Amino acid sequence: MNNDSSGRLADSFGRVAKKLRISITDRCNMQCMYCMPREDHKENRNDSLRSNTGKWFPRNEILSYVELVRISRIMARLGIENIRVTGGEPLLRPRIEDLVAGLSRISGIKSVSMTTNGLLLCDKAARLKESGLQSVNISLDTFKSERFKAITGVDGLHTVLESIHVAGTTGLKIKINAVIVRGWNDTEVADFANFARETGHTVRFIEFMPLDGSGIWAPELVVGKNEMISRISEDVGELVPSAGSNSAPAKLYSFADGKGTVGFISSMTEPFCAECDRTRVTSDGRLLTCLFENPGHDIKSLLRGGKTDEEIADYIMQCIKKKPEGIIGIIRAKALKPTLNLMHTIGG
Ligand code: SAM
Ligand code: SF4
Repeated sequence: MNNDSSGRLADSFGRVAKKLRISITDRCNMQCMYCMPREDHKENRNDSLRSNTGKWFPRNEILSYVELVRISRIMARLGIENIRVTGGEPLLRPRIEDLVAGLSRISGIKSVSMTTNGLLLCDKAARLKESGLQSVNISLDTFKSERFKAITGVDGLHTVLESIHVAGTTGLKIKINAVIVRGWNDTEVADFANFARETGHTVRFIEFMPLDGSGIWAPELVVGKNEMISRISEDVGELVPSAGSNSAPAKLYSFADGKGTVGFISSMTEPFCAECDRTRVTSDGRLLTCLFENPGHDIKSLLRGGKTDEEIADYIMQCIKKKPEGIIGIIRAKALKPTLNLMHTIGG
């Protein structure tokens, strides 16, 4: 395969994929209301999707580390520069540091990062850092124990706060991801902003997307970026856009007094589809060129069917060419509906 990767992962809208997210498991040790279909929401569930409630992808359907490194290497040759490991909960896979080390060694890869719920991070943070992990995004939606349990199904607030602290001591770069949902945790936006100021960790506020799999999502539950900025400016202090920050898709803001940074991932109120440089591989071996593509493109059967790297690369380039416009097109077509895909199988 020739190594000139310029524009090989370009789509028909002229966007070029540079970032790869690999979801390494659909399993999770939490059941976040906005992500994982729950049995108690069965009546709302969209079963036309690949729903896994109560039954995860069978283990033999999940890509092995060897397969994940191979596909990542093929995609690096096509121009991917950054890899994020996600899930489900990525830290549930045994010897995850071996995968991180393998991904870090791929020529052309500039960074390997991870998104985790933090429940298992405390013990693994130092080894992950040694294996080449550069940064970790830790999800946290509330500072209230009872609310944490209601949102995630787990009594784990203390453990996650401890993980954030411990991971911070290892030299890993840390960001906090908070999905804000009206009526659930929107009263805590200022608390998160204060947390950013006190800890120095960037807190990124994520708008609720219709990816929960249970049909809970509704437009009125979305708390938009501008509303959050007003609340923070009123309750904590004036925010100013951070100049020249390369933090896409988050838009970063600093406090006028220079203490603390927050980000907004405004997928619903200001979709960033036109600048999207991401592509995704699911744990069961599908390429998703967009969060809202379903079911995506089967690459596992190519990996397992004796195809060469060149053949797989050709297939990936063809799939990327067909990348849909994204949620912006869905919003424009007024085709938003409560459940468009399943977040825990994609990884965010
Ligand atoms: N289990 C890990 C975690 O929770 O960080 C990684 C996977 S999780 C699917 C990745 C990110 O997606 C998390 O930050 C989570 O908060 C976010 N997320 C999940 N469902 C979402 C939704 N419906 N809308 C917006 N963000 C969502
Ligand atoms: Fe699990 Fe992460 Fe989804 Fe929560 S957001 S259910 S922790 S995959």
